[in-house]
Amino acid sequence: MAAQIMVVEDEPAVARGVQVALEREGHDVFVAPTGEEALARFADVAPQLVVLDVRLPGIDGFEVCRRLRRESRVPVLFLTARADEVDKVVGLEIGADDYLVKPFSVRELASRVKALLRRAYGELADAQGGGTLRRGDLVIDLERRRVSRDGVRLSLTTTEFDLLRHLAAKPGRVYTRSQLLELVRDYAALEQDERTINVHISHIREKIEVNPAQPRYIRTVRGVGYAFAED
Ligand code: CA
Repeated sequence: MAAQIMVVEDEPAVARGVQVALEREGHDVFVAPTGEEALARFADVAPQLVVLDVRLPGIDGFEVCRRLRRESRVPVLFLTARADEVDKVVGLEIGADDYLVKPFSVRELASRVKALLRRAYGELADAQGGGTLRRGDLVIDLERRRVSRDGVRLSLTTTEFDLLRHLAAKPGRVYTRSQLLELVRDYAALEQDERTINVHISHIREKIEVNPAQPRYIRTVRGVGYAFAED
């Protein structure tokens, strides 16, 4: 995937090399020469990954990472120059996801970035575009819009499929009936009542659940709405 990446590095030659290497891979790169600037611009740049040098003028990379972690789980790849810094990156629980020791090859950098992005966003990418969601015995094929359980194809309507896909993309997330209605409004033009959602959910359960009276997949959250079960 092509990503928005923030590179925090004060040495212009290193920053430039990293930027060129990542842009060659199709990423958009924003370079911040200090930790202060990285933190100030974090919200509006909204990077999907941060490449963070340990040694910076002003606050160092460790402190930048600590502060980022208060608001974000964005993957962080540290650049370090020395073994004792590596110990600190690995030993301290500051939320680093990976590190590279200088000097590193840009090829190595690109491959680490790719792996981190896949690890962090693989499931999200599936949920947004094509791909497949696997939940227990259920397989939801997002491209072909097919659902099967234990290899047996199930027949869902368009509305039922879209409701299931949204719920299953984020297990544990609770959706209110009005949120779910919003998701399927195009198909439900004649039936705007939120109770419609109960009917659709009941139909989905009859199709996907072994025992619809004791649903394993879609939980009712009393007084609120529905959530897909966390495994
Ligand atoms: Ca530096």
